[in-house]
Amino acid sequence: MRSKRLPRRRLAEGGLGVEDGDVVTTPAFEEIGHILRGHQRFAILGHVRPDGDALGSQLALALSLQALGKEVRVWNEDGMLEKYSFLPRAELLTKPPSTPEDFDVAIALDTAIQNRLGTALAAVRSAKIWINIDHHISNPGYGNVAYIDTSAPATAEIIFHLIKSQGLPFNRDIAENLYAAISTDTGSFQYPKTSAHTFEIAAELIRAGLDVGRLSQQLYENYPRRRLELLRELLRNMRFQQESHVASFSLTLKAAAELGVLPEDNEGLIDHLRAVRGVIVAVFFEELADGKVRVSMRSKTDAVDVCAICQKFGGGGHTLAAGARLRGTLREAEEQVLKEVCDKVAAHSAPSS
Ligand code: AMP
Ligand code: MN
Ligand code: MN
Repeated sequence: MRSKRLPRRRLAEGGLGVEDGDVVTTPAFEEIGHILRGHQRFAILGHVRPDGDALGSQLALALSLQALGKEVRVWNEDGMLEKYSFLPRAELLTKPPSTPEDFDVAIALDTAIQNRLGTALAAVRSAKIWINIDHHISNPGYGNVAYIDTSAPATAEIIFHLIKSQGLPFNRDIAENLYAAISTDTGSFQYPKTSAHTFEIAAELIRAGLDVGRLSQQLYENYPRRRLELLRELLRNMRFQQESHVASFSLTLKAAAELGVLPEDNEGLIDHLRAVRGVIVAVFFEELADGKVRVSMRSKTDAVDVCAICQKFGGGGHTLAAGARLRGTLREAEEQVLKEVCDKVAAHSAPSS
């Protein structure tokens, strides 16, 4: 069991009480900085089925702590993904060992619910302090110290501020990891939470010496051919409902096996649905081997909050991008989830008078 040496404290209100745009100010970073400087052995963890933000944030913080002379383990249930293996010092990030280890400090990054750490959580036998750094509105603020900034478009923005405000080591490798994380979580600096501030951070990262063209090519122009074949399969079964305001497609286990795709291949494909004029909500269903269905949802408007919809099914995320895992068949998940989505979109589209 992890001990509670520090009083459990939320530095920003997470979960249901949170207001979009809540920002925690410097004293919180000072407290985290104090903990980082004062301990030696760290576990840096991220959510299952990781994305660029989770992996980039984990590596960036790990490299900074390593440069500070700390001992770090960087674990993710899925290990490093093939498509992000170009990230500087990617080899530091591994699958967790089967024998749990003890730490001074365990840090969860970009992880809305603690159990989304999966086997990485189980690999931490004990930690004197748990730190939770995230930007998801559904994060309840678990851990001894929780820093939740729902206005941040990426967890990596928070890591950047933490490093800069505390004078922690910073170099080009760290900058590249942070840039990759911010670029992917903002949809290449497009999503609504992308601010002038985000571009200022990007500018500082570029000044640290990274090559934007090269990094963007590695991120966006280096997909395996099978990803496009997967897109073809998904487009073949896409459907539009609710006056074409709701678009969805599904991936069966059988199709995934036939195409030889990896789970990481589908990241971002849902954006093709959201990009269609008139579509308000896009939904992607993926049949999983464990008898569950992974649901991924995107919205174009705050008026249709997909985080709230996903929370009804035990998931969470952000107002405009969220997910859940449902037990049952693909057909059952499609029926239940699309009914809920269509109801919400109908209520939004109905004339108010
Ligand atoms: P995805 O559709 O998998 O890209 O996820 C969209 C957002 O929702 C991400 O920020 C995820 O971290 C979050 N999310 C996805 N699935 C879940 C889940 N089962 N529980 C909580 N948050 C989730
Ligand atoms: Mn993430
Ligand atoms: Mn994120």
